Amino acid sequence: MDFTLSDDQKEIKRSVREFAEREIRPHVMEWDESQHFPLEILPRLAELGLMGVTFPVEYGGAGLGYVEYALIIEELARVDGSVAILVAAHNSLCAGHIYLSGTEEQKRKYLVPLAKGEKLGCWSLTEPQAGSDAGGTKTTARLEGDYWILNGSKTFTSNGTYADICVAMAVTDKAARKHGISAFIIEKGTPGFRVGKKENKLGLRSSDTAEVIFEDCRIPKENCLGQPGEGYVDSLKVLDHGRISIAALAVGMAQGAFEAALAYAKQREQFGKPIAQFQAIQFKLADMATEIDAARLLTLRAASLADSGCRVTGEASKAKLYAGEAAVRVANEAVQIFGGYGFIKDYPVEKYYRDVKLCTIGEGTSEIQRIVIARELLRE
Ligand SMILES: Cc1cc2nc3c(=O)[nH]c(=O)nc-3n(C[C@H](O)[C@H](O)[C@H](O)COP(=O)(O)OP(=O)(O)OC[C@H]3O[C@@H](n4cnc5c(N)ncnc54)[C@H](O)[C@@H]3O)c2cc1C
Repeated sequence: MDFTLSDDQKEIKRSVREFAEREIRPHVMEWDESQHFPLEILPRLAELGLMGVTFPVEYGGAGLGYVEYALIIEELARVDGSVAILVAAHNSLCAGHIYLSGTEEQKRKYLVPLAKGEKLGCWSLTEPQAGSDAGGTKTTARLEGDYWILNGSKTFTSNGTYADICVAMAVTDKAARKHGISAFIIEKGTPGFRVGKKENKLGLRSSDTAEVIFEDCRIPKENCLGQPGEGYVDSLKVLDHGRISIAALAVGMAQGAFEAALAYAKQREQFGKPIAQFQAIQFKLADMATEIDAARLLTLRAASLADSGCRVTGEASKAKLYAGEAAVRVANEAVQIFGGYGFIKDYPVEKYYRDVKLCTIGEGTSEIQRIVIARELLRE
C-alpha cells in the first residue's frame, strides 16, 4: 500500500494551491459578503484543466483520475469552498452524467465544451418535495413527436443561474416509479426553461444555488440522456463519484480551518504565553489533525478505487459521511481556538464554520449516507 503522492500529483496539488492562493484568496470575503458568483475566474479554471478533470483528452478533458480530482477539489476548498463546489457540481454531476450515459454525439456536442470550460454545467435532481427521496421526482417529461415536453421545478441546483447546460431528471413513466425517471439535457435559452429563486445561504455564499423551472419546455427527442427510465439509477452512479468530491470539499475546508487555527494558536498570547502551549488547545489541534488525516485517507481510498474501475458506493458514502462530519467538528474547534475573534468576520474561521455544514447535507445527507453504507453491508 502506497500512501505517497506521485511527483505529478504533487505538482498538480502545488499548482492548484498556488492558483487558489493568488487568484481566489484575496477575494474570498468580498465574494462571500456580496454573494458574488465568480464567473470571471472560469476562464482560468478552464485554462488549468479544472473544468474537465477526469474526462479523456479526446473529449476536451484533462485525462486525470479521481485521486487528482480529489486533490484539486481539496486545494480549492482549502481556500474557498464556494469555488470548489462550483467546480465539483460542473465536473462530477453535470459533465459526469453526460460522460457516464451520453451517446457519442451527446458527448461531442455537450461534454466537450463542458470539459474545456467553454460552457458551465449544472445538474438538477432535487425538487421541493423530493430531496433525500429523489425517487419521488414530480417533474414530468412526455414525448410529443420529435420533442420531449418538460414540466416541473427543481430546487437547490448548484450553478443553476449561470449554467449553459443543465442535466435534469424527470418522470417519463409514472407507473414504473423510480424506474420511470429519465435524464435530459437542456440548453440555456430553450423556451420554457428558466431560472427561479437564487437562494440566500448560510454558507458557500458565492456559489450559486437556484431554482430551475420547466414550463412546457420543448427539447429535441435526442436530448434524452441514457436510456429512458434509467435516469434515477444513473443518478445514483453519478452520485457515487460526486460524493468523493464532497468528501474532498470537506477535507479541504477542514484543512483551511485547521491551518488558520494552528497559526493563530502559536501567535495568540494569554496568561503570558502562546495559547498553543496550553494542553487544552494542543489536544484540540491533535484531534483536528487526526480527523483530517482519517477523512483524507477515506477520500483518497474511494478515489483510488474509482480509478481502478471498482464500484465505490460504500466507500464514497463512508468518505463523504466521515469527512463531512469531521470537517464540521474541525471548523467548530477552529472557531473555539480563535475565541471571540473566531466569531468575527475579520478572521477566516467563521466562514469555514458556515461553509462546511453543506458537506453533511449536499449529495445526500449524513443520514442517507448511513442508509447507503448499511445497505452495502447487508447486501447479499
Ligand atoms: C448548497 C446546496 C447545493 C446543492 N446542490 C444541488 C445540486 O446541484 N443538484 C441537486 O440536485 N441538489 C442539490 N442540493 C440538494 C441536496 O442534495 C438536498 O438538499 C439533500 O439531498 C437533502 O434533501 P432535502 O434538503 O430535501 O432534505 P430532506 O430530504 O427533506 O431531509 C430532511 C431531514 O430528514 C432526514 N431524512 C430524510 N429521509 C430520511 C430517511 N429515510 N431516514 C432518516 N433520515 C431521513 C435528512 O437526513 C434530513 O436530516 C443542494 C443543496 C444545497 C443546500
